[in-house]
Amino acid sequence: MGLIIRSSAIHAAGCYATTSIRKGARVAEYTGPRLTKAQADTAYDEQPITYLFGLGDGSIVIDGHCMAMFINHSCDPNCETHEEKGRVWVKAIRKIEAGEEITYDYCLYDGDEGEAVCNCGAKKCRGTMYSREEIRRRKRSMKKTALRKTKSSRTTRKKSKSK
Ligand SMILES: [Zn+2]
Repeated sequence: MGLIIRSSAIHAAGCYATTSIRKGARVAEYTGPRLTKAQADTAYDEQPITYLFGLGDGSIVIDGHCMAMFINHSCDPNCETHEEKGRVWVKAIRKIEAGEEITYDYCLYDGDEGEAVCNCGAKKCRGTMYSREEIRRRKRSMKKTALRKTKSSRTTRKKSKSK
């Protein structure tokens, strides 16, 4: 599969097709060391940007070291990720033309990444890279945090971001 990394309007660098890619094709594998969620939390606690990809129920993550880690999020993507026997493949969900930027929907779910603002530019952009479930979960937990805050003056890094 012909892929190159170059600067992207969405975010820093992006991954582009150098040849056309048929619908359903495997575009790239998301590879890297496998870490437990706890190991990743410890290793990347203070890092604003991570390239972690959650497997299965999210107890194991892939610490991306591959072309696929440069693929940007889009709310109207041309690829999606598939987990097959513990490996993660980025697959084309429509035909991709040479020169197009490869994208998939990150569906972020770990609520410690600020607002995760999305700049994908799609007409139906939801404004954030969080999954719809995570947006709902964050709204609920923000309400809970607000309630807790009124009861206790103790603050943590996570809580300090809430309003
Ligand atoms: Zn978007």
